[in-house]
Amino acid sequence: MLRVVCASANPHKVAEIADLVRGLVDLVARPIDLHDVAETESTLIGNARLKATAVCEATNQPALADDTGLEVDALHGEPGVFTARFAGANATDAENRAKLLLALHGEKNRAARFRTVALLTWPDGREIVCQGVCEGLIAESEQGERGFGYDPVFIPALGDGRTFAQMSVAEKHSFSHRGMAFRDLLRRLGESPTA
Ligand code: IMP
Repeated sequence: MLRVVCASANPHKVAEIADLVRGLVDLVARPIDLHDVAETESTLIGNARLKATAVCEATNQPALADDTGLEVDALHGEPGVFTARFAGANATDAENRAKLLLALHGEKNRAARFRTVALLTWPDGREIVCQGVCEGLIAESEQGERGFGYDPVFIPALGDGRTFAQMSVAEKHSFSHRGMAFRDLLRRLGESPTA
């Protein structure tokens, strides 16, 4: 089984990624003494590459990164690459959600999508890049206790009207941007004879 270092530091995301690749990839945690990588690129793929490359170079092992953005139509695609910092540099998930609900107060067009880039890179420079997109709506108020980030305010279009935070992890994976991106990555890894 391919041993891969998880470049993400967000424990919620790491738990979801571990769940998605279980039994197919030997996912190990990033070294604890490694500094967080500043997300200075202007695209999700650029930031995913920054994170994966930093961990790959530090460990000399294949490294896997996930970068995710929320694109809200009424906000012209924002917060996008700034999703984690929507309410400020050190904003909490609750502060980000509150800012989003306020920005959409009274707004009829609540269409939005999550986009995830999953990027696996090897010390010899090979990489696999996959993307998953989940269309949906921003709820009028927070619903549900599960998940993380914007889950309490995101209603996936293919669901039954509940937010991600009202779903089990397995249910969320079946619709989610991350589920889609990592299923594609596993498929391409399986097809790669040199992986
Ligand atoms: P990053 O990819 O770690 O930079 O995350 C970007 C932002 O999106 C952070 O505010 C996360 O909390 C949020 N986020 C990432 N994935 C999800 C998800 O699956 N559900 C809800 N929020 C998410």
